[in-house]
Amino acid sequence: MDPQLSQRSRLQQPKPESVSQIKRSDPWFDDGTVIIQAGDTQFRAYRGILTVCSPIFQDMFSIPQPTAEAELVDGCPVVHVSDSAEDWQYVLRALCERRYVSLGGSLSLSVIAAFLRLGRKYEIAQLHTEALTRLNYEFPSTLEKCEEMVYSTMIEDDRPLASLVFEVIELAHEHNLRHLLPWAYTVCCHHITFEDIFGTFDLDNGRRIKLANDDQRICIIGWRDLVSVQTKLPFFWLSNDGNPIWDELVAACSSKRRCIAARQKLRDEIFCHGESPKCCAMTFWDTEWGVDMCGVCGAEAKEMHHQALVKLWYRLPTIFGLPGWDKIHEE
Ligand SMILES: [Zn+2]
Repeated sequence: MDPQLSQRSRLQQPKPESVSQIKRSDPWFDDGTVIIQAGDTQFRAYRGILTVCSPIFQDMFSIPQPTAEAELVDGCPVVHVSDSAEDWQYVLRALCERRYVSLGGSLSLSVIAAFLRLGRKYEIAQLHTEALTRLNYEFPSTLEKCEEMVYSTMIEDDRPLASLVFEVIELAHEHNLRHLLPWAYTVCCHHITFEDIFGTFDLDNGRRIKLANDDQRICIIGWRDLVSVQTKLPFFWLSNDGNPIWDELVAACSSKRRCIAARQKLRDEIFCHGESPKCCAMTFWDTEWGVDMCGVCGAEAKEMHHQALVKLWYRLPTIFGLPGWDKIHEE
């Protein structure tokens, strides 16, 4: 259904599909009071539930339908919608069966995307919020939230990470959720190979997903900029030569040779993986990094790392061609 179209005419207009092509799908309540038809799939649900949850359906159902002209199935009016049957199945299961949402736990991205799309279109605030809560958690827009985040606790999906992040980027563009993009692009730079950045992924529901050309370009340029900045900002503490902090700390450091060697070793471990450098610019401090340095150097390195991450976080959106955080948060 398109809310901007005449709701009355949508309810009354018989559709050309022949009856034999129509499939009945779950949820189908025998005592349901309305048929939702998406493509050639029908669901039987309750007008009352849709009315309570969606102001759009409330308005639609408040218009009396002339019974002589209404399209009926098993005595129920048929509402034709232009969305996918898969999205409607998730939404009706959530609204009529309390599935997916009752425990506030993790959801697959397909369910989250359906909640976001239909929640926004039909103003089903509860489902829209369920979707945003999970996306905002996994793709945070403050450094503090980013540090608190534990991966894969709100979005659980066994598909490849690349296809998941690409779909989040697609949703962020479609729904004007630009605050999700800096971290989504960062995940691409940190964890997704160049081959996959340009790759296409087949989803279980038959959809194919790939990054748009602009997003591919943003990821490649962002990767280059993050790799170039990571040794100057977050991991500057790994530089022994020409680093004024270490020069100043010579007297306080209890084992200068050991600490220099520890930093050289870490530098190799963190950046040198295979033939190309590793992008890990927005990686938070790992307590393991401090264990081979003396206490003074370890504490100083941790503090330098944190201060530099704060600076890099501030610049993160602009590295990916977006306006600054202030502007993004105003949206
Ligand atoms: Zn030291």
